[in-house]
Amino acid sequence: MLRLYTHPACLQHDPGEGHPESPSRLRAVLRALDHDRYAGLDRIEAPRATREQLLRVHAAEHVERILAIAPADGTVRLDEDTLMSPGSAEAALRAAGAVVAAVDMAMAGGGRAFCAVRPPGHHATPDRAMGFCLFNNVAVAAAHAIAEHGLKRVAIVDFDVHHGNGTQDIFERDSRVMYVSSHQSPLYPQTGRADERGVGNIVNAPLAAGEGSEEFRGLWEGALLPKLFAFKPQLVLVSAGFDAHRADPLAQLQLGTEDYTWITGRLLDLARAHAADRLVSTLEGGYDLQALAASVGAHVAELMD
Ligand SMILES: [Zn+2]
Repeated sequence: MLRLYTHPACLQHDPGEGHPESPSRLRAVLRALDHDRYAGLDRIEAPRATREQLLRVHAAEHVERILAIAPADGTVRLDEDTLMSPGSAEAALRAAGAVVAAVDMAMAGGGRAFCAVRPPGHHATPDRAMGFCLFNNVAVAAAHAIAEHGLKRVAIVDFDVHHGNGTQDIFERDSRVMYVSSHQSPLYPQTGRADERGVGNIVNAPLAAGEGSEEFRGLWEGALLPKLFAFKPQLVLVSAGFDAHRADPLAQLQLGTEDYTWITGRLLDLARAHAADRLVSTLEGGYDLQALAASVGAHVAELMD
């Protein structure tokens, strides 16, 4: 059984004309999942994250600032590429709340979930919105799993083409969380060197522009998955960004949809081996609408298997 968490509010966050992180991304994803092949999905409306949940990973000033920004119309700019519109705070609450609710369901024996939400989260640091991200959705969920469910080992797996600097920032001194990322380097946000290791719980694997399926699978099979299996996570969280696809306009890796099927299958092996099949995946990047829809479709189909 695969649960799909989403909320119409996630379509109301609008960073403005021409911005790559547009509502049409989520519309394309939901359209792709509105197909007979996905009829078995259990569709659930995401609740809002609570302040208490957000404050486990974010500074109070950051949470209050995001919740207080409610432009009457148009947008407010938080940094060079991160903007908020009238619907943004509500979207951010639903995005983080989706992943938290999915964790609760997984811990109650519900198995796997995919959260079709935006804004994405993995660049948001404890005290700063950046890189299209307001709250760090996956980090809020990991902290929730530890605080509410008493987990001792949570894995966050990030195959978005960008390094999740925010997630690393939040957990680099917390050995209960292992953060494992493959990403293009050099590329925004310029973090994620292999020698950034936290307290031994951070594993960064940079790929060069132009590299593709062979290098990606080689890295995961040879270096990243063995570290994850050795960690024996009780819960697998996935920062599922699809911007390493060859069609993506923001980066230059050369993955195809079959690579997303492959990595999803390997992460399911990990979840089955150690985490009682508990895997919660949440949407991060992916900016070519067709490639995004096809890649999410492949990811979700594999999760349903
Ligand atoms: Zn990305």
